[in-house]
Amino acid sequence: MSESNAPDGPLNSLDEWEDDVLKRYPEEGGSANKFDKEFRDYDDPARESVREFYRLNHVGQTLEFARDKRADYGRRDKHEMSIWETCEYLNTLIDDSDPDTDLSQIEHLLQTSEAIRADGHPRWFVLTGLIHDLGKIMCLWGEPQWAVVGDTFPLGCKFSDKIVYPEFFEANPDSANPEYRTDCGIYEEGCGLDQVTMSWGHDEYMHSIAKDHLPEEALYMIRYHSFYSAHREGAYEHLMNEKDKEMFKWVKAFNPYDLYSKADQPPNLDVLRPYYQDLIGEFFPETVAW
Ligand code: FE
Ligand code: FE
Repeated sequence: MSESNAPDGPLNSLDEWEDDVLKRYPEEGGSANKFDKEFRDYDDPARESVREFYRLNHVGQTLEFARDKRADYGRRDKHEMSIWETCEYLNTLIDDSDPDTDLSQIEHLLQTSEAIRADGHPRWFVLTGLIHDLGKIMCLWGEPQWAVVGDTFPLGCKFSDKIVYPEFFEANPDSANPEYRTDCGIYEEGCGLDQVTMSWGHDEYMHSIAKDHLPEEALYMIRYHSFYSAHREGAYEHLMNEKDKEMFKWVKAFNPYDLYSKADQPPNLDVLRPYYQDLIGEFFPETVAW
């Protein structure tokens, strides 16, 4: 695979998608008004690129595409490196984010994990904060932005209108398949999300990497953290089993740390590195096959 640090897609930076999520779900009692105002500002040039990003995502994410990517990345033959090295590698992603306001990738990871740690949560939870976005390294391997970030959703069944920009799904080839157009599609009601093929992205990839190393609560957080139509809008409950419904408490508990943790100071890498290398060593082997 060729390596490129330029993002392949309409977003100037991957953060533009997350900024858009933040506008959709502003922090309660936070700077909601500012985000509300920006959300309505359709002249904002960032909005056009975000819209185009969602269009590409909603058209490109088909059941076949997601199955192919899962099989490809499931081979784990891309690279071998430690979790900490992967954090540093992700940080080489150079995009057009604003250096004055946007965090680097590693700063987002550490800010999330440090906020979890400051609230006294268990060590696996802190580690989950650190690693949850590492699947974004796919961008460094030439995957288009729409196959790495963006809200995730089930494939092989009806697209919920609770997903952002649902109208773009009309041009998704799966929309023409009558088998995929019913509420349950190819699935049984209550079958459990583990049976469901989700759209491909950094969540699903990182879940496949972490699955033998972290507790189930952590795996739910990683796998479904961008499944906003479910954990923020309550969609797709008909595909969940009792365990999913129970475990989504953890997905919801994780989300504020991902979206709203803001440190006064950017995290100091040199100070934090020993703690995190120790924490990684508690759960992961020396190196991981990506
Ligand atoms: Fe993420
Ligand atoms: Fe994140």
